[in-house]
Amino acid sequence: MNLEGKTKEEIIETLQTTKKQERADEIKATQATTRVKLPSNGLINPSITEVTLKRMTTMQSKTLFTNNDPNFLTTLVMSCIVEPVNIKTTDLHPNDIVYLLFILRYISSPKEVVQRTICMNRNCRHEYNVPIKIQDMSVNYAELENINTVCTLPDSGDVIQFKILSEGELNECDKISDRKIRQNNIEYSEQDWTRAINKVAYMIQLVNDKDFKTFDEKLKYLENLSAYDFEYFNNEYSNIINSFGIEREIISSCPRCGYTNEVEAYISPEFFRLV
Ligand SMILES: [Zn+2]
Repeated sequence: MNLEGKTKEEIIETLQTTKKQERADEIKATQATTRVKLPSNGLINPSITEVTLKRMTTMQSKTLFTNNDPNFLTTLVMSCIVEPVNIKTTDLHPNDIVYLLFILRYISSPKEVVQRTICMNRNCRHEYNVPIKIQDMSVNYAELENINTVCTLPDSGDVIQFKILSEGELNECDKISDRKIRQNNIEYSEQDWTRAINKVAYMIQLVNDKDFKTFDEKLKYLENLSAYDFEYFNNEYSNIINSFGIEREIISSCPRCGYTNEVEAYISPEFFRLV
């Protein structure tokens, strides 16, 4: 690659195109199995930074047509990982799962994914299909040396040591919340809050180097923090989560009015319609 005599913008552009090209070449559509580097990059399990994904069989796709599993997409991805053999949902971050789903779709069918979108121009509102070119989507890998899981709260000065929750832990946490909601007859309007605060309690390991005796003690601690501290912590956590994973923003221009629309590629029921 010759970068001589180019402006900074041109160099960045060239580097980005090259990076994307490498990704597209790396993973070929309809390849039966493929090695995939995980966006979490060892953040969840230091010994698992790559997996081998195999295109889905009819049996595995069954989970898409049954409705008894609320985590059916995770189930699908897990069943398509052939290596490491004993991988668990506690080894992966939700961002890994999403990325693996996109790659799984890509290797399972050569048919392009399209997503229905509505033009955001208020005078237009035209509905059209946006092609989702999975091979062009970029992915960020967690930079472990830049990730700090210790946070000093601005108001109280407390030092919180926390962990990034895996897919498995988040599911476990949801189960704990469900149980609490049932046992304490928590009203519908307060259920989201219960889930959210339980999740934060689950993330926190030590405060000022001290452990909590019980989960409820941790909840009490959180409830008594200033709202500013609580939000500050949540923001620190989100910044880490948003620093890795597949970039799902797709820019398209409306075929009717030319307006530039930005949509987030999501996994719809049509996503896995392979033919
Ligand atoms: Zn339009």
